[in-house]
Parts: sequence; structure tokens; C-alpha cells
Amino acid sequence: MKTFKIGGVHPAENKLSASSPIREAALPKQAVFSMFQHIGAPAKPLVKKGDVVKVGTVIAEAGGFVSAPVHSSVSGTVSKVDVVIDASGTRRQAIFVDVDGDEWEPAIDRSPELVRLSDRPELDAATIINKVKEAGIVGLGGATFPCHVKLSPPPGSKAECVIINAVECEPYLTADHRLMLEHPEEILVGVSLIMKAVSVEKGYIGIENNKPDAIRLMTEKAQAYPNIEIVPLKVKYPQGGEKQLIDAVIGRQVPAPPAIPISVGAVVQNVGTAFAIYQAVMKNKPLVDRVITVTGKSVSSPSNLLARLGTPFQQLIDECGGLPEDTGKIIGGGPMMGKALLNLDVPMTKGSSGLLIMRQDEARRAEPDPCIRCAKCVSACPMGLEPYLLATLSDKQEWEMAEGNDVVSCIECGSCQFTCPSRRPLLDNIRVGKSTVMGIIRSRAAKK
Ligand code: SF4
Ligand code: SF4
Repeated sequence: MKTFKIGGVHPAENKLSASSPIREAALPKQAVFSMFQHIGAPAKPLVKKGDVVKVGTVIAEAGGFVSAPVHSSVSGTVSKVDVVIDASGTRRQAIFVDVDGDEWEPAIDRSPELVRLSDRPELDAATIINKVKEAGIVGLGGATFPCHVKLSPPPGSKAECVIINAVECEPYLTADHRLMLEHPEEILVGVSLIMKAVSVEKGYIGIENNKPDAIRLMTEKAQAYPNIEIVPLKVKYPQGGEKQLIDAVIGRQVPAPPAIPISVGAVVQNVGTAFAIYQAVMKNKPLVDRVITVTGKSVSSPSNLLARLGTPFQQLIDECGGLPEDTGKIIGGGPMMGKALLNLDVPMTKGSSGLLIMRQDEARRAEPDPCIRCAKCVSACPMGLEPYLLATLSDKQEWEMAEGNDVVSCIECGSCQFTCPSRRPLLDNIRVGKSTVMGIIRSRAAKK
């Protein structure tokens, strides 16, 4: 069975919510929309205190080409444009809407009827990309890169295939798995739309073989889509990394930055993004909600919630039985790549794929021992880096050497830290080194 070639680890899967069907979360009393829910320039507010909005109303415009608009996910009245502390602990400009009822923009088609590509023969690439752009779709796997940018390959590059990331290799997370079981046809139409947008004849959907029900169902439904192939993959973390997925599915290696997937002819999108693209193009529905996994070993009902963007995390946890008494840490995302949350007033954003509530015994970090030079971190690194060295260089603020040793290629997967017998905080140090070196590279480029 296919997988990527270099490194990788096998953390315990803990997919506690895999058999919980997606259920709709209750509306919040107040929804808060950060202007920074995507990579790139922040969105710019278009509304002010007192404005009345519906579900789907544009409340902020894109701040540039690499940016995305924001739509209200609720109906009600704008109470203020202020700042909010987001999941990264950073203060961000945000729009606050007091919720009143649940009135949707009339142009949004809320019927469950499937709309196939053959029902809309007039759709061309430019129309699809423009719809995706206007709907504020970003990569829902966690990267939050504005989708229309990826669908517009730079001059000189040519897309050859679309690869859909349905791997969901982060332990605990099950939102994508449930989406495939409950909306396979919409996903396949979404993939067809992506293929049409980038003018390719071949699409792949990579699914790890710990989801045999999803592989079976998607394979059955894909019979009607001869250009889309379901590719079962061996379970190995971090197979959801773009470069690892491309290697696993088509056996091509993306060179070091600045090379990107399109450099080897691949356009990669998450399976949740394909679903959102279906809704945007075929149902006129902007990105106002998404599926989020709320889970943990002491959570009474680990769940997959379809929740409106802007809903406070506290409310989502309450819907799953509340915060357990033995809570030690709450992570936004999965245990490998997620980040600890400072408070639960944080609103859900486009990139919120999971909330993991760790027990005190799981969250406690043991004191690190000295490096024993076992090289396990090197064997685990899927990018072929030397994590022990990068961590030391970052710790010593040797930025030039860190750059020379390719710290910017780190995908922050945490495989090195996971595998280290001395429990060294490798990823923590490397993250600091990577962001510092990227800042240095950016300011060097700006001076040129
Ligand atoms: S976090 Fe970075 S250095 Fe560590 S294994 Fe992943 S890619 Fe390699
Ligand atoms: S895995 Fe840990 S102990 Fe082994 S070489 Fe890497 S940093 Fe050192």
C-alpha cells in the first residue's frame, strides 16, 4: 500500500468520535468574526455598529489578492467592531454580532438536493474561481490559505492533477472522516469543480486505511466519476502534509522552498475544502460554518459538530458535556500540530478543525533529559532535516546556521519531538527558529 518515503511516526490514533454523526451546534448568542482567519492580508470590515446582517451577508472584504472576505454566519445586529484574542493568543480586529433569529440571505440554496456538474454546463474555470473567491473559501485542513490563489497557478506553471487530502492523520480528529461518510457525492462534485477550475483530467482522493468505511463508500460513489481515483494509503503521520501526500499518491518530490506543489504539477486541497467549494459554487453558500471535532478521553460525548463560525469554543465544549474536572490542557487542532488555547472565549474560525481536551496526566510534560545522540529524531523527520541540530541552533540563536540547515523546510509536524526518548522540546525550539529565519528572509527581500 502507498505511503510517503522519508520518516514518519505512528502516534496512537484515539479517533474517539469516529462513529458520532455530524450534528448541528446551537446558535451562539453573540458571534465574533476575526479579520484574520486566513493566511495573507487581514480582511477589512464593511459594517459598523447598528448594521443588521443575515447569514451569508458579506461583513468584511478581502484585504488583497492573498486574502479572503468574511461573511456573517448568523443573523442579527453588529454590536461593535473591536478586538478579540484569537486561538494563537494574538489580539485581532473583529466584528461582534448579537444574534437574533436565523435569517439567511435569500440567494443561498439550503435544499439538500445534489447539483451535479452536468446540471450546470455553463460553469467555466473563471466563474468557479470567482465564486470560490467571493465565498471566502480557504484551506480547511488547517493551513487556511485562500483557495482561489491555489486555483490560479502562477504563470509558467501547469497543473497536471488534483490531489484531495482526505488523510486526516492527526490523532483524535474525525471531522473529515464523517464528512466523507455523510456527504460523499457533494465532495465528488467539489473535486470535479476543482479539476475544472485548474483544467486537469485527473483527480485523486488519498484516504488512510484506518477509514475503511470511507474508502468503501467513496470508491463506490466514484464509479460515476471515471477521472477521480480513490487512493487508499498506509497509516503514517504526517501523511496529510502536502509534500508527503504528493509523494504518497503520485510519487513526486516537491523540492525545498520556494518550490510549491504546483512545481511538480499538483494542486492539493483538503476534502472539507472540496465540500465547501461544492456549497459555494452549486449552492451559492459562502463559508459560514464547518465541521469541528470536539474530543478528549474525559469528554462525555466526543462529537463532530457543524458549527457556525464565530461561535465561542466554550459553547462547543458545553455541547459535548462540558469541561471535564481533570482537564489539563485544551488544544486548538490535534495533539501533534495543534496549539494550546489560553482561554475558551476564543471564537471558532475557518481553520478550526478540532478542540482536544487533554487530561492533566496527558498534558503534564516531563523534564527533558540531555540529548543522547540517538538520531531517532532524524529518522522520524519527513523532511529529511536534522531536528536535534535545528533545535540547538534555534536555542543558541544561531540564525544564519539555522537558515543554512534549512529550518524553513520544517513543516512543524512534531514527529521529532514525539519520537525523542529524552523528551526534548524540539518542535518548540524549531518553531521559534523557523519564524525568526523567515522574518530575516522577508526583510532581506524587502531591502532588495
Ligand atoms: S517538526 Fe520539523 S524538524 Fe521536526 S520532524 Fe517535523 S519537519 Fe522535521
Ligand atoms: S531523538 Fe532526542 S535524544 Fe535522540 S538525537 Fe534527537 S534530540 Fe537527541
